[in-house]
Amino acid sequence: MCKHILNAQVSIRAPCCKQWYDCAECHAESQTHALARTTEMSFMCKKCKKAFRKDMTAYEESDEYCPHCDNHYVIDAKTPQAMIKVEGEDVRVDARMLKDDRVKASKALDDALFDDDAFADRLG
Ligand SMILES: [Zn+2]
Ligand SMILES: [Zn+2]
Ligand SMILES: [Zn+2]
Repeated sequence: MCKHILNAQVSIRAPCCKQWYDCAECHAESQTHALARTTEMSFMCKKCKKAFRKDMTAYEESDEYCPHCDNHYVIDAKTPQAMIKVEGEDVRVDARMLKDDRVKASKALDDALFDDDAFADRLG
C-alpha cells in the first residue's frame, strides 16, 4: 500500500518499467531508475479497478474523473506530494517489490487491455 498518499484514488503505470504504483514516491522506493515522463499516462481506478489512459498534454478538468465509474481521482492528496507528479525524483535504492494482490490484478488488467508493448514482468 502507498504510504505517501493515504487517499490515493488511482494507480499509475510507470512508463519506464511498466509497473503499477500509487505515486511517484512508491516508484522511487521500488526502483533504482528515475520515473520516466510520458505524454500518455496509464491509470487504474481504485474504485472500479478498471484501467484507462489519459493524454497528459491535453489534460483538463473533465479528465479528473474515471471514465468508467466517474470517480473523481484527482483529489488533494493527504500529503505534500502531488499525486500525479511525474518529475525527476530523488532515486533511492530500495529493492523492495510490490507483491500484493492489487499488482497482480493490475497485471491481468494490463494484459487484457493493453497489448502495445512487451510487458516487463518482474513480479513473476
Ligand atoms: Zn520505472
Ligand atoms: Zn506512494
Ligand atoms: Zn473507476
